Amino acid sequence: MSFESLGLAPALLRALAEQGYAEPTPIQAAAIPVVLEGGDLLAAAQTGTGKTAAFSLPLLQHLSTAGATQTRRPRALVLTPTRELAAQVHDNLRDYGKHLRISSTTIFGGVSMGPQMQALRRGVDIVIATPGRLIDHMQQRSIDLSGVEVLVLDEADRMLDMGFLPALKRILAALPRQRQTLLFSATFAPPIKALALQFMHQPREVSVTPPNTVATTVTHHVHPVDAANKRDLLLHVLAQDSRRQTLVFSRTKHGADKLVRYLETAGMRAAAIHGNKSQNARTRALSDFKSGRITVLVATDIAARGIDIDQLPIVINYDLPMVAEDYVHRIGRTGRAGADGMAVSLVSHEEAGLLRDIRKLLKQDIAVSEVPGFEPSHPLRTDANAPKPVQGQRQPRQARPQGSHRPHNNNHAHGSERPAEGNRKRRRQRRPAAKA
Ligand code: AMP
Repeated sequence: MSFESLGLAPALLRALAEQGYAEPTPIQAAAIPVVLEGGDLLAAAQTGTGKTAAFSLPLLQHLSTAGATQTRRPRALVLTPTRELAAQVHDNLRDYGKHLRISSTTIFGGVSMGPQMQALRRGVDIVIATPGRLIDHMQQRSIDLSGVEVLVLDEADRMLDMGFLPALKRILAALPRQRQTLLFSATFAPPIKALALQFMHQPREVSVTPPNTVATTVTHHVHPVDAANKRDLLLHVLAQDSRRQTLVFSRTKHGADKLVRYLETAGMRAAAIHGNKSQNARTRALSDFKSGRITVLVATDIAARGIDIDQLPIVINYDLPMVAEDYVHRIGRTGRAGADGMAVSLVSHEEAGLLRDIRKLLKQDIAVSEVPGFEPSHPLRTDANAPKPVQGQRQPRQARPQGSHRPHNNNHAHGSERPAEGNRKRRRQRRPAAKA
């Protein structure tokens, strides 16, 4: 199958050729004709499947062929859960639309509103926004959504996970009823179906990846280790190929920062990316990683959404995620487009229940191998009697150097990216934060 046969305009085909895309990915082949026809689309596709182009290409084609461009009212709105994903979608739209005269801008928190307001005043065709900051603009009346013809909800499952449902409802209420709605989600979980039922008009469904599966080209390794020895084991694994670009996942922001300091002390070039970092710091860390200036990027789950790095050979889970689905998202960074990938998890015996959940979700066994010199003092049990993960429960901390400061025992002091359940509920009652 070729991009030509999907009915895309020559200006888009040229841009795709320049990107080096030889043929459409399965989600693009399935989604593009449906979107070009103008119908609503409900698509199950994970990051790494080419989903961004699956909505961006027909969206650009629609905007370039129908109606006037550069009006004061945006004609298309793309909602994303995180700033990184918004920036990534924006970059992709610019790449694919480079031979068209379609303007776009991002609207997200963590940066001042002024330049965003100016861009909106100048007039823009496509707005790519995170829900929280978009609501701020709606309240300030700096955006008029009454001209939106196409709405894209990207990673809708994650937006719901992050408590954005009330914000989404407010935004949807401000949009014209007559519009095309495209919803992309990693899974068709019941809340996604409910959202689709409420806000979409007879959507066509396409699903290219069965829910919660990872690329078959990824091999999974688990190294059991005592929590106190994880840092050294990480160094050991990283040292096996110190030039290799490695993405390391940490469950907490505080943990990510500590790890980076430790790696730097050991002479590695590393940076952290998480919700407490300024937007500039996050953008810099990502571009340093992409350019190879740093070799290790330590990320939290939420900040890692939207990170697009081609052909990452290895992802390391320094902590296992509290939610098994996040393992799938993490691993989606490696083994892309048929390339081989490796997922290495450093697992302490307290995380045995989390590992069991991940195995259950993946429906596949994961090889467990001890690393000589790092054998754990407790066996890693993943049978039915393994300790169950408790929502909001944190890992025991690592051994600290003598006399080091111990932060207060509350979630914020540790910089947990996922608030404990109680906190999360309280937060949801307020407006969800735009920050990722
Ligand atoms: P996404 O799932 O949108 O995050 O895309 C994952 C990666 O696949 C990005 O690096 C895209 O640039 C790349 N990509 C998207 N479509 C294609 C294609 N048809 N051929 C090759 N690479 C692609």
